Amino acid sequence: MKVVLASSRGFCFGVEDAIEIAEMAVDSRGQGKVVALGPVIHNKQVVSRLEEAGLDQSGDLETIDPSRAMLIRSHGAGPETFERAKARGLDVVDATCVLVKRAQNVVKQLHERGYHVVMIGDPNHPEVKGVIGYAPNVTVIDEDTDLDIALPYRERLGIVAQTTHSPAHVAKMIEKILLRPFREVKIVNTLCLEVTRRQEAAISLAKDVEVMFVLGGLHSANTREMARMCRESGCDTHHIETWEQFDPSMVKSKALAGVTAGASTPEWVINDFVQHLERI
Ligand code: SF4
Repeated sequence: MKVVLASSRGFCFGVEDAIEIAEMAVDSRGQGKVVALGPVIHNKQVVSRLEEAGLDQSGDLETIDPSRAMLIRSHGAGPETFERAKARGLDVVDATCVLVKRAQNVVKQLHERGYHVVMIGDPNHPEVKGVIGYAPNVTVIDEDTDLDIALPYRERLGIVAQTTHSPAHVAKMIEKILLRPFREVKIVNTLCLEVTRRQEAAISLAKDVEVMFVLGGLHSANTREMARMCRESGCDTHHIETWEQFDPSMVKSKALAGVTAGASTPEWVINDFVQHLERI
């Protein structure tokens, strides 16, 4: 099988930084002495490696022993998490991605300047849950139907988006908002270029191959979005985590495959997959 890799794929700098911060925290404090409030990133293989290195990723803010440090993941957290940690006397290690931090600051500033903040994003995603904590009453919308149900009339709207969303989806939602009679709409682009580059490279590759493999955690928002875009471009697409989930029927009667990976997928998972696929 001939395999072509997307020109931009895999780990982004935010994820690399978060892993490095987590590893350094465990190195300096000792195994079992650092607790993350959930998996550091949406990738089971990396999460298992960090677990083996001595990082506890099942933390609950209310029960962490003050002798252990609390790690904030790359997705960030709302201000109430930092305040509660301070009140409990916890040592906080902050691995929030700088671009997520920027989105949090933008939301805070928009509110301070009198805008009602609207975030285009998945209300259940940890990044969104954290970001909306930086202003009161933020409206989260993600689908056309949310516009009628959730979007209140306000004189001044300030719009941001989940960093991992696709520019096309965000533009579509903004276009619909602009059709409504808001007096002032301020849009701040909080999308992550790392993700956009990977999405563009994936779509471009999907147009040239017979089948696409998008590698990454099944809960990873940016990986799922990339798989959706490849499918939408008309290419037969499979979103799987590792080679273990590969099935020969996926490449039946096909000779040219494209491979890409989400921002939380390490290079060794990609290499392992490509080596196996090339042997077919
Ligand atoms: S995808 Fe972008 S926003 Fe998310 S962690 Fe990576 S660099 Fe940061």
